[in-house]
Amino acid sequence: MVKKVIAITTGGTIAMKYDKAAGGLIPAVSGEDLLEAVPPLKDMVQIEVVEYSNVPSGHITPRMMLELAKLIDIKASDKDVAGIIVTHGTDTIEETAYMLDLSTHTKKPICLTGAMRGASDMSWDGPGNILAAVRTAISPAMIGQGVTVVLNNQIHAASEVTKTHSVNTDTFASPWWGPLGYVYDDCVVVKRHRAKQQKIYTDSLEEDVYLLKVTAGMDGFLFDCLVKKGVKGIVVEGFGCGNVPPAVKRGIELARRHDIPVVMATRVIAGRVAPVYSYEGSAGSLIPAGVILAGESSGQKARLKLMLALKAAENDTELRAYFKER
Ligand code: ASP
Repeated sequence: MVKKVIAITTGGTIAMKYDKAAGGLIPAVSGEDLLEAVPPLKDMVQIEVVEYSNVPSGHITPRMMLELAKLIDIKASDKDVAGIIVTHGTDTIEETAYMLDLSTHTKKPICLTGAMRGASDMSWDGPGNILAAVRTAISPAMIGQGVTVVLNNQIHAASEVTKTHSVNTDTFASPWWGPLGYVYDDCVVVKRHRAKQQKIYTDSLEEDVYLLKVTAGMDGFLFDCLVKKGVKGIVVEGFGCGNVPPAVKRGIELARRHDIPVVMATRVIAGRVAPVYSYEGSAGSLIPAGVILAGESSGQKARLKLMLALKAAENDTELRAYFKER
């Protein structure tokens, strides 16, 4: 029997064409037309196209990501559906992928894909990436592997993947871990399995959560602003294993005195935040103030996790537990 795949389209460069009047790429390709551009799919699978939106991925919000998760679970509950693909702009694809990874229930493969070149560009990489995503989504080896990002014939885990180049087609990488697998013309090869896939189930998320990137010589001004606003959570991207300048430490302590949860991630592309040092401003020196360490999570992913955890957790202990899972 021909397998059924749901293709949810959201926009991004993959669905854009050059517009002379606008002077650049703008949304121009419908969901149906996008899938029509991949002729090999016709004999391979039965596709149901759902056009969720047609926007650049910088217009996708965490609330939309959570809505997508619910839509995917509804579609995946059809027993005839083998897998789901989502076409998406590459700028925030890793965030949507991670949100779906945390909040979907289905074990069926969910593969996000996009393109670095628009539909009117030379060597549009959209059709090839869609084909690879569909082949990954119907691969039995991908069941239970969580949400993946599939571009350039590489399959990356949502929790590990990041965009590493602003224009190159070989942009997605899972630094220090590598892809889960590869898509070849004749097969999908899965090289390793996800050790653990974290879930945070909640109907809504806390939107008033900010991410601050730490820089050399940074002061506490932005923390003062966030405390004044009364935000519900702050994620900090510190240096190395979670260290910050002394003035930032004071800003963090101010936020903590106002009971604002503060999560420390790293601005480095790989590795854990850890209390290796005990000097003023080190991750270790922030523990007494109750700062939560984000493990290997990037700042943008730690922010999404905090947005969900703030709604899902009944108390501070439960909130912290969500960040203990790696
Ligand atoms: N700016 C585009 C977007 O994220 C980039 C892309 O799709 O590759 O929508």
